[in-house]
Amino acid sequence: MTILGSNMTHNGMFTESSFHFDTDRVEIDPLDDRKRKPVDLAQARGHTAVVKYLERELHKRKSLFPRIDIWQLVFGPAGNSKGPLLFFLCSVFLWGYPMYLFRCVPLTWDDHPNIHTFFLTTNAAMWASLIAAHSLDPGFLPRNTNEYHQTIRQITNLEKWREDRNPVFRLCHTCRTVRPLRAKHCRVCNRCVLHFDHHCPYIYNCVGLYNRIWFLLFSAMVAINCSVTVYFAFACIWKEGWTLLYVAGLLEAIFFCGLGWILAGST
Ligand SMILES: [Zn+2]
Ligand SMILES: [Zn+2]
Repeated sequence: MTILGSNMTHNGMFTESSFHFDTDRVEIDPLDDRKRKPVDLAQARGHTAVVKYLERELHKRKSLFPRIDIWQLVFGPAGNSKGPLLFFLCSVFLWGYPMYLFRCVPLTWDDHPNIHTFFLTTNAAMWASLIAAHSLDPGFLPRNTNEYHQTIRQITNLEKWREDRNPVFRLCHTCRTVRPLRAKHCRVCNRCVLHFDHHCPYIYNCVGLYNRIWFLLFSAMVAINCSVTVYFAFACIWKEGWTLLYVAGLLEAIFFCGLGWILAGST
């Protein structure tokens, strides 16, 4: 029932809390001692956003059909999963590169030497940007700051501040810090990140202020490489016909190509 406290009217906190209810499968219909559900309390207090969220969530949980989360299928499950990165590495090293070296190069190098040189260059750039995006600090905020403790001490004096200027709404109690605007707490890294965009399982890191340019370059390089791979797959098919190997390679290239362009476009 605590979810219906006065803080829930603040939009940022509501969005963050609803994310936790959704991913952690928190019970959302327990009764209080007067047999009221959270949705009844929210209605009584006029928290329309909370009412809408709870009704939608209850409907989803009662549904007979399993929920298919497209975002999760493409970007991997919530939490600290290495699955998507391993899937990407395995498909490149165990399938993509062997196919390129042993089938594509002998068949097409003489016809398209410039495209091959371009492809090798963009591959080098892809690995360099992946390493940079993965290993750079995305902009983690310092934990346990003096500013946080000062704000906590002054909390009663801050009530009349305007919401957008009030540091109370930007407190992160997990990191014990006051978040600047556009900083957010990443649930996977369990840290607040400057200019938080999202936590990307393909680079196995957050995308934030200091590594987003590398992430953008990585996504663009994946998209370009996969577009060239699609071209190579058609070049091989042109020479040797529609074999199962080329069709599988073509489908895989189209999948990563789409993913790369989506990631590059949405950052
Ligand atoms: Zn935090
Ligand atoms: Zn993260």
